[in-house]
Amino acid sequence: MKTSIATVCLSGDLREKLAAIAAAGFEGIEIFENDFLAYDAPPREVGAMVRDHGLEVSLFQPFRDFEGLPEPLRGRAFERARRKFDLMGELGADRILICSNTHPESLGGIDRAADDLRALGDDAAARGITIGFEALAWGRHIDDHRDAWEIVRRADHAAVGLVLDSFHTLAKGIDPDSIRSIPGDRIAFVQLADAPMIEMDLLYWSRHFRSMPGQGDLDMAGFMRAVAATGYDGPLSLEVFNDQFRGALPRTIAQDGQRSLRWLMDRVAREEPGIAIPVPEMPARTAAEGVEFIEFATDPHEAARLAGLLRAMGFARVGRHVSKNVERWAQGGINILINTEDEGLAHSLYLLRGTTVADMGLRVADAAATLARATALGSEPVASAAAPGELEIPAIRGASGGLMHFVDAASGLDRLWEVDFRPDPDADAPAPAGLARIDHVAQTMSFEEMQSWVLFYISLLETEKAPMVDVIDPAGIVRSQAIEAPDGGFRITLNGAENSRTMAGHFLAESYGSSVQHIALATHDIFATAAALAANGFAPLAISPNYYDDLEARFSLDPAFTERLRAAHILYDRDDRGEFLQLYSQTYGEGFFFEIVERRGGYRGYGAANAPFRIAAQKRAFRPAGMPRQ
Ligand code: MG
Ligand code: MG
Repeated sequence: MKTSIATVCLSGDLREKLAAIAAAGFEGIEIFENDFLAYDAPPREVGAMVRDHGLEVSLFQPFRDFEGLPEPLRGRAFERARRKFDLMGELGADRILICSNTHPESLGGIDRAADDLRALGDDAAARGITIGFEALAWGRHIDDHRDAWEIVRRADHAAVGLVLDSFHTLAKGIDPDSIRSIPGDRIAFVQLADAPMIEMDLLYWSRHFRSMPGQGDLDMAGFMRAVAATGYDGPLSLEVFNDQFRGALPRTIAQDGQRSLRWLMDRVAREEPGIAIPVPEMPARTAAEGVEFIEFATDPHEAARLAGLLRAMGFARVGRHVSKNVERWAQGGINILINTEDEGLAHSLYLLRGTTVADMGLRVADAAATLARATALGSEPVASAAAPGELEIPAIRGASGGLMHFVDAASGLDRLWEVDFRPDPDADAPAPAGLARIDHVAQTMSFEEMQSWVLFYISLLETEKAPMVDVIDPAGIVRSQAIEAPDGGFRITLNGAENSRTMAGHFLAESYGSSVQHIALATHDIFATAAALAANGFAPLAISPNYYDDLEARFSLDPAFTERLRAAHILYDRDDRGEFLQLYSQTYGEGFFFEIVERRGGYRGYGAANAPFRIAAQKRAFRPAGMPRQ
């Protein structure tokens, strides 16, 4: 199946768009008339430029307000169409999209529309052009693909087919299975776009909030399974209107688009066996079991500070890498590495951002399969620079230039700590504080980059998106999206900052790109952990006493329990399944921090309701130049 993308999805001029689209591996483009009109070259040259990039024009669009018009509008619409056919001949395009009429004077009637399309079909056929008819969700008379199909069926012309657009079908809540009965050879073209579920005007929703398949909430797999069942074998094309995407690098958007199509085709091929869908060979999504390690890049001076903080939290140095300046600090099942190499990737990230997370090791069911799938989806594998005798651990380039490693038990990569590290026990190791595992890792990024990361995680690992929540920073909103394995063993939160005055935005500006802003460590008894930390000299983030008065009233808490929370600076939240208790470290460097959490029962969230109080407390304690007083 050929993949295609509408030029309107990307920013830049037409030449920049074509370069990005070709580099990402697409075969075709939908050329948006405005992209062509704004480009300063005759149509023949534009057509040649498209082909020079190894691409074809798979669709010319849009042609509006055609069917069902009274005279003299009808005659003029036919004349407009013929002029577009001339232009298409010069561009080398043989398929045009006609979207259902929104003109106030257009008339209804299935047969009237079918007659118009049949008549235009004769003109199109004479020039080797196919017309595709699409129901806009806000069309004046036709706003449902089932009606558009009835018009195409009655037009009964070889040069007239149906265009299906997932947004128009799914946003209106039309059952995608209604597509299954349409013959595949009568479908002229298929357009794909996802969207987040938002209550708003359909036209506005469509023009500004579409997203790549997998990034939104629409049933893209259900739609594609139905399309595949018809036997359709034409192009699959992305038509995504999104203001944020138009502000991002065209190359990133094109790569995300290609990743989303490969993810979707692979999913449909697995869910609808027996239907031949040409899809790139790749292993299935792998189960994500947890975070095996987090590696900080720093220098020896900063490393001592970081080690001090870790020790106060009950971590002990347990080992050293056999060939690199990397220390392993551990507690329970948590491994934190401190890398002070003075060359290599980690060091260059340190020079750019200061002390930063440069590598994250994920524990997966099958590391080699994860690498193969990541590569098939477009990630860049990184050759492991293992010295003789060290393990070859599969890796890709991960969060904003850092690395992501995949470790599994099945192929023995969990021997990492015995093979690549030698014991180096801490002389003054503190007593453990009850921290058992990494609960979640929070990455901060710009809002547009967040969409890339959502797609990255859900396409690679057996994870799902939780509903997006708004974290209220007094200086602006931060959108937060959690990605979770079904058993909760692996959790990532992605935080999209829209301005640099929020705590997340400030961190982002200072860290030059997305990176890990906090790591949450799970304990089974947060009060015992808090007491152990206090005995080690750990200073928690101080929470305003007023918070606790409100909390007690809000949740009808026992005053003695509230007093224990207040004394230990522990924040509290509750949902219909359980309770959540949180404690924060003070910020480190430009805003990094640790969080300690206890989940009771089946609490699913991350304490978003407490974020404003946490952020206010952080801003009181940490107010670098340029950070507004709140
Ligand atoms: Mg469309
Ligand atoms: Mg958190």
